[in-house]
Amino acid sequence: MSTASKKQVLLAAPRGYCAGVDRAVVTVEKAIDLYGKPVYVRKQIVHNKYVVQSLEERGAIFVDETDEVPEGAIVVFSAHGVSPAVHQSAAERNLKTIDATCPLVTKVHNEAKRFAADDYDILLIGHKGHEEVDGTAGEAPKHIQLVDGIASIKDIKVRDENKVAWLSQTTLSVDETLATVAELRKRFPNLIDPPSDDICYATQNRQVAIKEIAPKADLVLIVGSKNSSNSVRLVEVSLEYGAKAAYLIDFAAEAKDEWLSGVTTVGVSSGASVPEILVKDLLEWLAKRGFGDVQVITATEEHLLFSLPVELRKELKAAGK
Ligand code: SF4
Repeated sequence: MSTASKKQVLLAAPRGYCAGVDRAVVTVEKAIDLYGKPVYVRKQIVHNKYVVQSLEERGAIFVDETDEVPEGAIVVFSAHGVSPAVHQSAAERNLKTIDATCPLVTKVHNEAKRFAADDYDILLIGHKGHEEVDGTAGEAPKHIQLVDGIASIKDIKVRDENKVAWLSQTTLSVDETLATVAELRKRFPNLIDPPSDDICYATQNRQVAIKEIAPKADLVLIVGSKNSSNSVRLVEVSLEYGAKAAYLIDFAAEAKDEWLSGVTTVGVSSGASVPEILVKDLLEWLAKRGFGDVQVITATEEHLLFSLPVELRKELKAAGK
């Protein structure tokens, strides 16, 4: 139980939208404005229910694969990135593509291509079935194998133990990834690191902020969708760092009154694909239950912005928009 007697909310900063998500969402909005509806989007543009629903209302149609897009239509690739095979299948269907892959995911693709060109075996730490992992692995399928948890390390087979490199998904737990790398290095002492951090700044910063809050919190509420990797990690990190309970919710309406029983301090944060309006709704829900005192806990400030995909920028300029 917290020692504080007054009910309070500790609100994490930074939280919510990252530069890659903001860019991807604006890309779809501008594409609809420029070309008219519908604009097709392969996979969820970002892993958030509210964002996907809002874009559907504006005229986006979400599909699983490019073969569901009518020939010659416009398709946006999501922030999580795609493999070269997807680009190829879009070209075969004569689709006009706009690639909203986050530049920080593209960076990992480029690292994979470079290591593969030098004929390294690449160990990609990530979650099986996540779109980003599928896209990165597709850059060098013959060189990349997935490491999904420490237990999977024993199954790794490489051609030359002295020519092995690791990369990771951008939205993992920093601590868990370091632990996995330490285990990998026990097996492969000459393991090569990525040239720079693959876990992106937004994922790292949101984890740092919740780590400050979690030890003081009786309850942590993370706003985010269940398929959002970085949001799920925030719940796990909260519990690891001392929160007595932590839940992931898409909307304030999913929060339960019984979670507040005996609670005086609630930590709040949101995943990198979550618009601030959803956090506001949750703060209102909490205020109605006596948690109107909100203290912002700032771990760091973020100022990064990415420009829109070049193919869209050119056409917006040509159209005078
Ligand atoms: S979470 Fe990180 S990698 Fe993913 S879109 Fe945001 S900035 Fe890019």
